Amino acid sequence: MAMHPVVTLVGRPNVGKSTLFNRLTRSRAALVADFPGLTRDRHYGHGRIGPVPYLVVDTGGFEPIAKDGILKEMARQTQQAIVESDVVIFLVDGRAGISAQDHDIARQLRRAGPTVLLAVNKAEGMSTGVAAADFYELGLGQPYAISSAHGDGVAELLDKALAPWVEAPESEMDEDDAPAWSETEPALEAGEVSADAGVEAEEGSEATLRHRIKLALVGRPNVGKSTLINSLLGEERVIAFDMPGTTRDAIEIEFEQGGKSYTLIDTAGLRKRGKVFESIEKFSVIKTLQAIEASNVVVLMLDAQTEISEQDAHIAGFVLETGRALVVAINKWDGLDSDQREWIQRELQRKLRFLSFARMHTISALKHQGIKGLMKSVEAAHAAAFAKLSTPRLTRALQAAIEQQPPPRKGIFRPKMRYAHQGGQNPPLIVIHGSGLDNVGDSYRRYLETQFRDVFDLAGTPLRIEFKSSR
Ligand code: GDP
Ligand code: GDP
Repeated sequence: MAMHPVVTLVGRPNVGKSTLFNRLTRSRAALVADFPGLTRDRHYGHGRIGPVPYLVVDTGGFEPIAKDGILKEMARQTQQAIVESDVVIFLVDGRAGISAQDHDIARQLRRAGPTVLLAVNKAEGMSTGVAAADFYELGLGQPYAISSAHGDGVAELLDKALAPWVEAPESEMDEDDAPAWSETEPALEAGEVSADAGVEAEEGSEATLRHRIKLALVGRPNVGKSTLINSLLGEERVIAFDMPGTTRDAIEIEFEQGGKSYTLIDTAGLRKRGKVFESIEKFSVIKTLQAIEASNVVVLMLDAQTEISEQDAHIAGFVLETGRALVVAINKWDGLDSDQREWIQRELQRKLRFLSFARMHTISALKHQGIKGLMKSVEAAHAAAFAKLSTPRLTRALQAAIEQQPPPRKGIFRPKMRYAHQGGQNPPLIVIHGSGLDNVGDSYRRYLETQFRDVFDLAGTPLRIEFKSSR
């Protein structure tokens, strides 16, 4: 299984990184209702070029000479992102011209390893030759003139960055990953940058889709991931292999549990398996995100003995955005007294309220407690994510919901919802057709979501609802 390629944006402040980031990731936001409490990490996002999904990392700033404190930590994170990415886009400012800091960054990047593309931003209205001329001296090859704000040259730049993946998407994808655009999603022109609508294949036999559950186990270092993996694998024969074709290892482990076949997608934890525990690896956000993208179901592991951190919430937010099914495992439940148990429940309520669609399990990976139940929920979440929702049943559920509570008026018009059909799986996408649906508010969308969840028993998976107005 190929991990999604990672494109990292670097450059000094104000050159336009976040503008470019937004353009490359203009994403499913429209499909994700606004969840109170959801932490969004603006530094990581995803997009899709034709059939090829990719991750984008915005490094924020670049402080190559920072010696200590927060700047040093930022520099460390930037370095880690650069090393772990497939392609670096180095942005410079075509209006301001070349600066000493650009030279510093270029020097570091020449040593770094991944492919570097030099993008001269803010070049709208300038001739390409003029915009680029100055920047050859950075020694990073041909500069690409772009305008992040207006879009000029961005598709070409992205084509160039992702050429190895765009040219050979077949071999990079599992059969059940093969994208198929639903009729609501027009096929893209080559080179067109698209927001990822999260619409996955609806074809392919059910048997293929349900054949294996691709599972990502994610969480901060030390929450107990390796312990759980060891306990899951037990005496099972382990088939682990490195996939060729990517710079980083993507390790898959196949195992059976409760009569189901699983493929576990490794994050850092697995390398500690075995007798000799190596020193704890640095937490890698990128590897975590890639594992989430490559999975159908995510188990987010939390440590019941520590506070729920920003990082936990970030990972959770990303799972929600990608639409993967989710089960939360609260580990290290052993040895807690009732006060401590109450405290962690309150933490969950307060900080991860937006995950109410997911089942939560208190477990002890160490003592083998609660693991069967956890895996039952994984199975259920997977089934919900791939549920087949027929048009007649969806339409009946829609009508029942409307009868109980009609959508609020907009001015003198009341939105009219006629029928619903399924537009995708993992996550289920429900497309509602009618007229005057452009302004249906989030709260009514959430109401419908709750109704559909109830009727179709969709616990464990995010659910997307899209409105299509006919004129
Ligand atoms: P960052 O600090 O590198 O993330 O830069 P930002 O994306 O925040 O952009 C800095 C400033 O440059 C903002 O005022 C943007 O509106 C502006 N900017 C970004 N891209 C372009 C562009 O393509 N053309 C022009 N003229 N301005 C841009
Ligand atoms: P990872 O970094 O997420 O892979 O975490 P590990 O599996 O290496 O576990 C980190 C530490 O937590 C180790 O010392 C484990 O023995 C301990 N640990 C893991 N699971 C449990 C548990 O269920 N209860 C308790 N009390 N400790 C645990």
